[in-house]
Amino acid sequence: MSKSLKQYNLLIWISLILILGFVAVLATSYLVSKDALRRGLSENMLPITGDNIYSEIQKDILRPVFVSSQMANDTFVRDWVIDGEQDSAQISKYLKEVKLKNNAISSFFVSDLTRNYYYPEGLLKSISETEVRDQWFFRVKNLKTAYETNVDIDMANQDSMTIFTNYRVLDYQGKFIGAVGIGLTLNTMKHLIDTYQSRFQRKIYFVDKKGNLVLSGNTFKQKKVNISNMAGLDQIAKQILANTKNESLHLEYTLNDESIYLNSRFIPELGWHLLVEQNLESELKPLQKLLLVNAGIGFAITIAVLLIVLFSVRRYQTRIEKSAATDPLTKLLNRQAFDFVFQQAILDSERSRQTLCVAIMDIDHFKKINDKHGHLVGDHVLKEIAAISRRSLRESDVICRWGGEEFLLLLKNCSLEKATAIAETLRSTIAANDFSRTTDLTKGRLSLTVSMGVAECKPQESEDSVFERADVALYQAKESGRNSVYFSE
Ligand code: GH3
Ligand code: MG
Ligand code: MG
Repeated sequence: MSKSLKQYNLLIWISLILILGFVAVLATSYLVSKDALRRGLSENMLPITGDNIYSEIQKDILRPVFVSSQMANDTFVRDWVIDGEQDSAQISKYLKEVKLKNNAISSFFVSDLTRNYYYPEGLLKSISETEVRDQWFFRVKNLKTAYETNVDIDMANQDSMTIFTNYRVLDYQGKFIGAVGIGLTLNTMKHLIDTYQSRFQRKIYFVDKKGNLVLSGNTFKQKKVNISNMAGLDQIAKQILANTKNESLHLEYTLNDESIYLNSRFIPELGWHLLVEQNLESELKPLQKLLLVNAGIGFAITIAVLLIVLFSVRRYQTRIEKSAATDPLTKLLNRQAFDFVFQQAILDSERSRQTLCVAIMDIDHFKKINDKHGHLVGDHVLKEIAAISRRSLRESDVICRWGGEEFLLLLKNCSLEKATAIAETLRSTIAANDFSRTTDLTKGRLSLTVSMGVAECKPQESEDSVFERADVALYQAKESGRNSVYFSE
């Protein structure tokens, strides 16, 4: 593995763990929410919508059933028919009262004997067995049950769509003598369905016992349809129509690869099935939006954490590198780091054909300073010498703490002559310095001197060889009385 890849190993692992973590959390929360939504939809939300609509319907549709039942059992109506339908004003007045009292759109009585259609304004018409519009009467006449609810156009009301409750009227012997009832406009129901549909984003409609669409909001394009022939719905039409108990049925079908939940409920008073549908996909949209937002937040957090980790690792790394390369006391380069810098400088000087010189500097009688003033003062002197050297050399020159009280100077782009001059300047600066000024550890002036040996790196010369020559020069400086600079030819 390459070094850089190794360096970023930690980062790669952290990002992998973070991303996997986020994906796992997002995926599970999405699946759990989706499942909860699916269950909530089919077991709670759709049945509740169905129940609400059912109770509204009961108010609007069952009331006419009770009213019609009272009308059919009214002795006035029966007596008036049995007595030969004498005065049509009487029945009209009665029908008008019923209509007004019950806020109905129409009320009627049709006699089986005379085939007369009475309404609140008098006699509307005479019905005929051959007339398609009058077929309902003959259906009611043969009805096994007491009444039927039927959606039809109302002739007495500019042919508007009306829900009629047609109740059979029997004489005291139980013989069929006519049909009575009231009609409600469908617009109220349609409006109700539309409000529910837009409020809950659901599809609401009614089908009769055979599956024909009888009442819906504005979502159905065709009006004359049967659920057995509709795409998707045909899968469950049989189940819907088989449910004739007044209980909710949870069903599901697929249309264009989308799951649609359906709640079906049979309304015995109408003989209709109330169907409430919801597309799971559209219900999931807010959830998917939330998922995207969460993914965005997760992504941002991942990036932020990675950046923080990256910066800390980098800072830590440079700090380690620095501390491994510097001498803690003088903050100069240490010997290990110097080796690397020296190799680099040799290569540079060869490439640019510039001369490179080294100088070894050793403090004279340093042991005595330690002995006389203590190690703390000795350390302070070392620090101070490092600072003086740094100040008097060029930025490009390198200073290194070579050993205990020995320093190594690397003077780039510098002839032997110039290097010796630089060393001489440094030597005299140190000799003139009062080391007691920068510390409280000593009383009185503290002076000291250094000796130096300088050598120029010759082409193809080894590192050991050049240092050895510099060391020999240093030895000569020491031998000749210290506080001096010698160079190797
Ligand atoms: P000369 O070089 O002039 O021959 O004499 P010298 O007294 O300097 O001799 P030598 O180089 O043998 O002594 C080095 C002394 O430096 C020995 C050691 O106690 C001291 N020394 C080395 N490192 C440190 C350090 O980090 N701090 C202090 N205070 N003293 C040190
Ligand atoms: Mg020494
Ligand atoms: Mg010494």
